Amino acid sequence: MRPHITSHRTLHHWGRLVPKSSKFIFITGGVLSSLGKGIASASIGLLLKQHGFSVTVQKFDPYINIDPGTMNPFQHGEVYVTDDGAETDLDLGHYERFLDVSLTKQNNATAGQVYFDVISRERRGEYLGKTVQVIPHITDEIKRRMRAFEGKFDIIMLEIGGTVGDIESLPFLEAARQLALDVGRSNSLFVHLTYVPYIRSAGEVKTKPTQHSVKTLMEFGIMPDILLCRAESKLDKEIREKIGMFCNVEERSVFEALDAETIYEVPMMFAKRGLDSIVLEKLHLRKSALKMDTWSRFVSRVKNPKHAVTIGIVGKYIKYKDSYKSILEALVHAGAINNARVDLKWIDSELVLEDNVSEHLSGVDGILVCPGFGSRGIEGKITAIQHARENNIPFFGICLGMQCAVIEYARNVAGLPNANSSEFKKNKENVIDLMHSQRDVTDKGGTMRLGKYPAVLKKSSKAYAAYKSERIDERHRHRYEVNNEFRDLLAAKGLVLSGMSPDGKLVEIIELKDHPWFVGVQFHPELKSRAVTGHPLFVSFVKASLKRSLENA
Ligand code: GLN
Repeated sequence: MRPHITSHRTLHHWGRLVPKSSKFIFITGGVLSSLGKGIASASIGLLLKQHGFSVTVQKFDPYINIDPGTMNPFQHGEVYVTDDGAETDLDLGHYERFLDVSLTKQNNATAGQVYFDVISRERRGEYLGKTVQVIPHITDEIKRRMRAFEGKFDIIMLEIGGTVGDIESLPFLEAARQLALDVGRSNSLFVHLTYVPYIRSAGEVKTKPTQHSVKTLMEFGIMPDILLCRAESKLDKEIREKIGMFCNVEERSVFEALDAETIYEVPMMFAKRGLDSIVLEKLHLRKSALKMDTWSRFVSRVKNPKHAVTIGIVGKYIKYKDSYKSILEALVHAGAINNARVDLKWIDSELVLEDNVSEHLSGVDGILVCPGFGSRGIEGKITAIQHARENNIPFFGICLGMQCAVIEYARNVAGLPNANSSEFKKNKENVIDLMHSQRDVTDKGGTMRLGKYPAVLKKSSKAYAAYKSERIDERHRHRYEVNNEFRDLLAAKGLVLSGMSPDGKLVEIIELKDHPWFVGVQFHPELKSRAVTGHPLFVSFVKASLKRSLENA
């Protein structure tokens, strides 16, 4: 069954609804990883959206894990959670923040999921009699997933993780090649992101790595239509001609992708060079005006703010900043809305002790305590929170950060000196405890409380003042919660339980009354902060921090 479509482009054909055809853009990467394929994809997606097309982006990750949920943040960076509770690659965060859309589990597929599906089918006997092979069975399953949104969007962007030439990427490239052939050349486009290094000793840029990377791509039968060349400085026409000539791409389709002051400027840099026009032309799409006014106003607020504010980020993965990607971006959005540059002071929670906490937290206008798992760095987080509470420094605790705030309050205000989370130490004062629904869970992958859940806010609270709404939806990723046995005691001692699950059973938000801004949330608000609009709690936290900074100036 083809999906039911309600677009104005839908045609009635012999009385039947014919779905609009989708165009497919494949994005591959070469030479080396970390060139910013996710941001390039999100940027192209935004431009196409601002031309009036409906766009979605899917990420294909060639690793064998079913999802990144069980990976160490040091390895993989942040795990991005969707509304429907999928634990996905952090590039989905870029897509959502740029395109202002909510994605689903279908927007991220891994080799692990693909193999798992095929092998399960084999066990059920669905291939009975056949030898199950990478081609066609694995590639067919990849293609099926690549077509999941066909007919539902004008443009489907498919980013293929890893670097061309990796053994793992092979089935994905083969599936892409086949799919492009199936849907026809005028409905598909290959964009290849490469690197053109400047070699100081030679005093020139080198195109050879790009040539090799494109050659590898062509071995798989894929001819790139557009090359995006990451480079430190402008590539002049001669170089682009050379790259084009040796890579079999016309010069006007060879683009430089320069470092930007902010990632949010990348779409505008692409548009300035006419990348959007070429994409539309090659996909035979009608060109309409590109509407970037709101976006460019946002970018100029990011680049030229009037004020500055310093936020202390207390976490244990601070050596690998990608672990907190969405938090950092949410602070950028909130900064722009508050007309302030947000400077970060990174604080390793494992190093924070009672006798050095004021030194670690000196000069910060607000303190954000990060999510996390496991006991390392917990005491440092609790000490930092006590410092924030006692010194009236705006405090924002996210997930584990909120749980630590409850422990701190229990220990130092509510008279429970041994208060702890049973995640770290089981005792009689476990103010944070494993959720009932988690008690029989043994598998690690995909078994936390994941995805979107509603909460109801107290009208008089800071949370309500930020959201301006009594009912909210936020994304979750946790196994532990505030232990309801201690709820009354904590509340009697002044901890405000300002957000609850609608059935009243689960504490979603805690805050303090007699403090400029002290809020802890069991969910991950950073996952819903979008460029331009930001997130109410981040905006409110940065505002309170800025107020403190201006008062102290
Ligand atoms: N480890 C805590 C839990 O599982 C917090 C998780 C988090 O910060 N995302 O509840």
